[in-house]
Amino acid sequence: MEYLDGRVLVGDGFIDGYVAVEDGTIVEVSEGRCPCVPAARGIVIPRPVDAHTHCADGAVEAVPGMGIEELVAPPDGLKHRYLREAPESELRASIAGFAERASAYGTGRFIDFREGGAGGCRLLRETVPDAVILGRPESPEYDRAELDAILSIADGIGLPSISDIGTGYAEAIADRVHARGGILALHASERVREDIDAILALEPDFVVHMTQATAGDVGRCADAGVGIVVCTRSNLFFGNVPPIGMMMREGAELSIGTDNAMLCEPDMRAEARAFAETAARQGIAYEEVWGPMVLNGRKIIYNHKSLELEAGMAADLTVLPCRGGFSAENALRDARPVHAYRR
Ligand SMILES: [Zn+2]
Repeated sequence: MEYLDGRVLVGDGFIDGYVAVEDGTIVEVSEGRCPCVPAARGIVIPRPVDAHTHCADGAVEAVPGMGIEELVAPPDGLKHRYLREAPESELRASIAGFAERASAYGTGRFIDFREGGAGGCRLLRETVPDAVILGRPESPEYDRAELDAILSIADGIGLPSISDIGTGYAEAIADRVHARGGILALHASERVREDIDAILALEPDFVVHMTQATAGDVGRCADAGVGIVVCTRSNLFFGNVPPIGMMMREGAELSIGTDNAMLCEPDMRAEARAFAETAARQGIAYEEVWGPMVLNGRKIIYNHKSLELEAGMAADLTVLPCRGGFSAENALRDARPVHAYRR
C-alpha cells in the first residue's frame, strides 16, 4: 500500500487528506491525517490531459523569430516538409520519446492533431495505443474514402484552420465526422481572425488558439458550449499573448495544450504555469488554473463523466510537489519531479 498525502482534487474542489493506492488501484480517499509515511506529498490531481499536441515534429529546429506560416502552415511550412521527408523509423522514435516524456511529466493522455493522413494515424496508434488521435486528410479535395480510412484508426479529425483548407472542404469533412460519431476539432483564429459563424457551423467539439478572436467570438463559443484549448507557450513563441482573461470573463471553457513538440516540451506543469502567469497579468486568480489544467481536458475525452476520485478506480494520479504551502502558485513553480503513476 502506498499513500499520497496533501491536498487532493476531488471532483471540482480540494480536500486536505490522502489517497491510498494498491496495485495501481485507489483503495481509499480520506480527509485528515495520513496514517503512515507517504510515498509523495503535495497537490494530488487526476493526471492532466494534454488537450492539443503535434507529437511527431520534435526534431524540427524552430528558431525564434520564425512566423506561423513559415513554420507550421500546411502544406509547405517547415514542419510539413520535415514530416513528409523524415523516415518512418525516425518519426516513430520521436513519437515514442514524446509519449515517454509526457508520462514522466505526469500527463495522462494527449490529444494529438496527427498529420499524414491514415498512415500518420496508424503510426501513432501503433506507437502509443492510448493516444487520442485526431487525424487530418491529405488530399486537396474532399475524399470520403480517405476520411473513412482515417476514421477507422483515429478518434476523430483535427483540422488546420478554415483559412488553410476553405469552408466548403471543412463542411464536407464535418458532416462525415459527425455521421461517424467522431470528435471534430480545429485550429481557429490563431494568425488572423476567422469567421466565427463559419467555424461554429461545423459544430466542433472544441477549437484551438483563438488568439486573434474578439470577445464577441469567444462569447459565441461559450454560448455554443464549444471549448477553447489555449497553448500559451506556443502563442508566445510566435509573439501572440493569448487573451485568457477575456476568455474566462466571457465564460469560455478553457483547457490547456502544449502544441508542437518542436516548440515546447510536453510538460503540462510548465504549460499551466505559463497559462496561470499570463492569466494573472490579465486579472485572473492563479487558483483558477485547475479547471483548465486538469478538469476541462479530461471532460473532452471522458465525455463529461464524473471527476470524483473513489475507491476502486485506477490510480490515474499525479502528485505535484509543493514547497511553501499548498497553492497553485507553489505547485506550478516547484521544479522537483512530479510523482506520477505511469501508463
Ligand atoms: Zn496545433
